[in-house]
Amino acid sequence: MCIGTPFLTSATIIPILGSVTARIHAMQSSSPMLVLKVALAVPLRQLFDYLPVENDIKPRPGQRVVVSFGRRKMVGVIVALSDQSAWPLEKLAKVAEYPDGEKTVLTVETLALLKWCWRYYKHTPGEVVFNALPPRLRKTDGVMPPPPVQYCLTAAGKDRLQEPPGRIKAQFRLLQQMSSGPVQEPLLQTISPSWRKTLARLLEQQWVHSELQTSARLKSVPGPALMAEQQFAVDAIGASLGGFHCHLLDGITGSGKTEVYLRVLEQVLGQGGQAMLLVPEIGLTPQLLMRFQKRLGIEPLVTHSGLNEGQRLQAWAMARSGLARLVIGTRSALFLPMPELQLIILDEEHDASFKQQDGFRYSARDVAVKRAAGLAVPVVLGTATPSLETFNNATNNRYSWHRLRKRATGAAEPHWRVLDLVQQSMTGGISSVAMEAIGQTLEKKEQALIFLNRRGYAPIILCHECGWHAACQRCDANLTWHKASHKLLCHHCDSGMRVPVMCPDCGADALQSAGEGTEQLEQMLSKVFPQTPLLRFDRDTVRKKGEFERLSAQVKAGEPCLLVGTQMLAKGHHFPKVTLVVIVNLDQALYSADFRALERMGQLMLQVAGRAGRDQLPGEVILQTHYPQHESLHTLLTSGYEAFAGELCSNRQAACLPPYSYQALLRSDAHQKEDVSAFLNQAKQCFPMGEATIYGPFPAMMERRSGRTRWYLLVQANKRSMLHHQLDDWVLQLHKLPSARKVRWVVDVDPQDY
Ligand code: ADP
Ligand code: ZN
Ligand code: ZN
Repeated sequence: MCIGTPFLTSATIIPILGSVTARIHAMQSSSPMLVLKVALAVPLRQLFDYLPVENDIKPRPGQRVVVSFGRRKMVGVIVALSDQSAWPLEKLAKVAEYPDGEKTVLTVETLALLKWCWRYYKHTPGEVVFNALPPRLRKTDGVMPPPPVQYCLTAAGKDRLQEPPGRIKAQFRLLQQMSSGPVQEPLLQTISPSWRKTLARLLEQQWVHSELQTSARLKSVPGPALMAEQQFAVDAIGASLGGFHCHLLDGITGSGKTEVYLRVLEQVLGQGGQAMLLVPEIGLTPQLLMRFQKRLGIEPLVTHSGLNEGQRLQAWAMARSGLARLVIGTRSALFLPMPELQLIILDEEHDASFKQQDGFRYSARDVAVKRAAGLAVPVVLGTATPSLETFNNATNNRYSWHRLRKRATGAAEPHWRVLDLVQQSMTGGISSVAMEAIGQTLEKKEQALIFLNRRGYAPIILCHECGWHAACQRCDANLTWHKASHKLLCHHCDSGMRVPVMCPDCGADALQSAGEGTEQLEQMLSKVFPQTPLLRFDRDTVRKKGEFERLSAQVKAGEPCLLVGTQMLAKGHHFPKVTLVVIVNLDQALYSADFRALERMGQLMLQVAGRAGRDQLPGEVILQTHYPQHESLHTLLTSGYEAFAGELCSNRQAACLPPYSYQALLRSDAHQKEDVSAFLNQAKQCFPMGEATIYGPFPAMMERRSGRTRWYLLVQANKRSMLHHQLDDWVLQLHKLPSARKVRWVVDVDPQDY
């Protein structure tokens, strides 16, 4: 079949062309003809054939094109060139234009990676390709920005400066500005509003010439002398530069992982390479960026989902031109074009936000490994709590495993205290023992952090008379009471209502709340400790930009205070005066139906605990639980994460669960449950024979969400290749099912939730 077009089989229907007989039309004319295989952002699992337009532009893979698709003009990207089409040539349309001329928006390297992605994740090529482009370039009127330039004086320009300005005052001012070195656009803008015209005159006279900008290196600050474990990791990673290699940097919080990144980055930047550091959504603190900037003497390019379109285009262009030497970003930065990329680092590799949970559901961790392999460069996965997938790869020696087991600052690891809640008297979720410990911490003029991963005032509102409880109309979920805003809110679809005064069912004045959220903890604690400032960190209090920084600056100032918060507080923050951490409740995870719940609980627990005693003062962690005897919890607390992960791995192996088997889900949802079950039942029937087994249909853990009913089929195999082999066949069949038109469906390879 056609090279590079895995989904364009003879049986595939190309809608704009109508159904045509399945025959390959090879070019017959003597001069070889060219067919462009184009990715378009449409929900079809195929590429589209177009002919080049006769002009000077030589079509190449990676170029953008504008084409007509039905009645619309659309942007496409040339993915491959071929001399064949499944359609008669006279039916193929010509490309309308090349908006970027000869220039390509995707390199051969990125194209190969994206091709792997759409095959592996069974997704539509168009969506995968367009996901890698900045939003502006997905539109027909978007253009690639020219590479950033700077302006310098020529010899003639220097001579002209020796003479008096005469009548060219504005031009002279620009010349003067350039006499001390190259000048870039932002500075020119500040000199005169009509700088463009003035500059054009200078260029015309050849007093000034333009050159490509270079990234200036500022002064950098040297780091501390490395400890032996750190040095060992730096040496090993350094030695692997220039080839593909995976490193697991497994170090407890504060053990100096970031310091290891910095050393290796120094090396890469020093030899003229580019590097990429991926962090979880909430790991991008100004603190971290400052540290990189100071130590490396360059301004890292920062990208995340909060950037606007213009900024994203700019960032993309900076990466592509090589001007950005170091990119620090969340998941999506992974696809940035970086011609001299020599190293990829993923910090907190276990973090769930590396998996995209809608549309093109890729794992940035796995794709990062794939990209590194394609480029023949090393990848470093850093974490205090490796995901079991990575842990397993390290155990099997597929990855080099570097352990950092001591805190770099010399601080001791926090002391754990497990509180069996069965024998405790409680006040609003906090046991009397924990309350006492909080009081003592404050007396010592230190800070305490109370962790509860649930925002709002109370998770349940119910009627004491008739048993009515406030549930979301659109989801299988309770409404959370947000007392300050007088609302009951669904945390899954954001719908809600005002808090009723009487029971909506029986009219009794008997509404009660059950359970606690951070809002309630805040209120209760401020009554118990009225003199102490209390800072709440959750999505309700930290909405505004800069609010998090404001709150954390207050914590860092070091005065005694209480911090109450959700997992927003778990990551990356260095609060030297926090010496006590109280984990209010993680019990739900101990007996969850999700087989990953325990792994996640262990990771979260250690992350939160890592906030205690990071500096000179010793730290303590109090864990409140009803199940102190739980086997895995016990292992984690007495023998540490490595033993815990080992035990979870044995359990997974015994149960044939990932990472010891490979899974994919066919997820489907619709307003009507019957539509979902009709589709999934038909889908199951056309599942091809083979070694992979299909199970279900099962309802999703939250069966109804935002008014849609969600079910899935689970496919599982002991070999990855078997799984993919069958999925490929299956997906083609699914498109043909009539019932598929009434539902939304997507294949989720290596699913992380159910
Ligand atoms: P991690 O990323 O593992 O949490 P960091 O690299 O942030 O650890 O290090 C924790 C703290 O220890 C930082 O303040 C860092 O400056 C310091 N640090 C790291 N390595 C060393 C070292 N070799 N000697 C002294 N201090 C160090
Ligand atoms: Zn009632
Ligand atoms: Zn809801």
